[in-house]
Amino acid sequence: MAGIMQDSFGRVLDYVRISVTDRCNFRCIYCMPAEGIEWIPHEIILTYEDMLFLCSILTDLGVRKIRFTGGEPFVRKGFVPFLESVKEAHPHLRIAVTTNGSLLEKWAERISGLGLDSLNVSLDTLNAEKFLQTTRTGDLQRVLRGIDAVRQTKGVPVKLNSVVMRDFNFDEIAALVGFAAEKDATLRFIEFMPLDKDVWSQSQFVPAEEILSRLPDPDQWMSCPSKENRSNICGPSRYFRNSVTGQRVGIISAVSDHFCHLCNRLRVTSTGVVRPCLFGNFGVPLLEGLRAKDAGAVREGILHAVSRKPRRGATGVPSEEGAEAFQEERHMSQIGG
Ligand code: SAM
Ligand code: SF4
Repeated sequence: MAGIMQDSFGRVLDYVRISVTDRCNFRCIYCMPAEGIEWIPHEIILTYEDMLFLCSILTDLGVRKIRFTGGEPFVRKGFVPFLESVKEAHPHLRIAVTTNGSLLEKWAERISGLGLDSLNVSLDTLNAEKFLQTTRTGDLQRVLRGIDAVRQTKGVPVKLNSVVMRDFNFDEIAALVGFAAEKDATLRFIEFMPLDKDVWSQSQFVPAEEILSRLPDPDQWMSCPSKENRSNICGPSRYFRNSVTGQRVGIISAVSDHFCHLCNRLRVTSTGVVRPCLFGNFGVPLLEGLRAKDAGAVREGILHAVSRKPRRGATGVPSEEGAEAFQEERHMSQIGG
């Protein structure tokens, strides 16, 4: 019988994001500096065996959904067989994956058999040149082929994630909405989050309300009923439905309009540190307990992190002198976005 994890403010935590690797084949301008980041040594990265053990403890603690992210999860050898073993061990667990889409074409068929809850693909622009500029290494066509390959299998609902930056893709909001409609994929716009002061810039930040005003035919978008909004099912997005076409678009306003009171998640970094809040540096290392197969120690570590989940994270636009919102482990690729 599964337990339940509840924090000091009564929030039930039943959703965990695990970063399967800090490594990535892209260097997105909003995630990493141009020179990249120093990769973490393999010895202290969770093995798939560690992660499987962790998944069984998490499900015992009442976790109902796990998202595997990174870095880029598909660059790690054995990722798809690992997903298959998680599914086999936990057939009722809802499993989701976030990816940059660059390696999807190869794996589309195999992942379609997994009954994934969702596959979130990051896609910030439809312009090949801009795509290369933002990702610094990426090939847009390859990602588009990957999205099509997954759609053709009809086995996985695809969501698209676009981080909005003012001088980069703010002018593409309508085009991205059109593309998502064409592909029958749910699109979510994400506010540019201040995690790394060397990467984030106030001038590139676009608040959710401004993103909303750029949707095509802005008068046609109605806020979805609250049960569809920011629930455990939909995550922290606020969803809007087009009253004429029926298309649904989400906005993740992690900066301008925090949703901490609804937060049901924990994060586990690729080195096995469980973090109760994305906007805080606190974390509890689980690696030793996982390697020793000490379920009690791992459980204790997770519950310690839960007890330290703040009522509200240090979200918001950082003040001039206020570096407190920026992270020590500063990149989404390291924390697990
Ligand atoms: N590599 C995969 C990808 O790009 O989808 C998974 C990892 S990535 C860190 C997860 C998500 O975090 C992506 O949707 C990415 O766009 C988002 N992300 C990264 N840095 C961000 C930032 N500073 N603000 C908002 N979203 C960010
Ligand atoms: Fe890699 Fe994803 Fe970060 Fe881009 S956002 S650098 S694809 S981890």
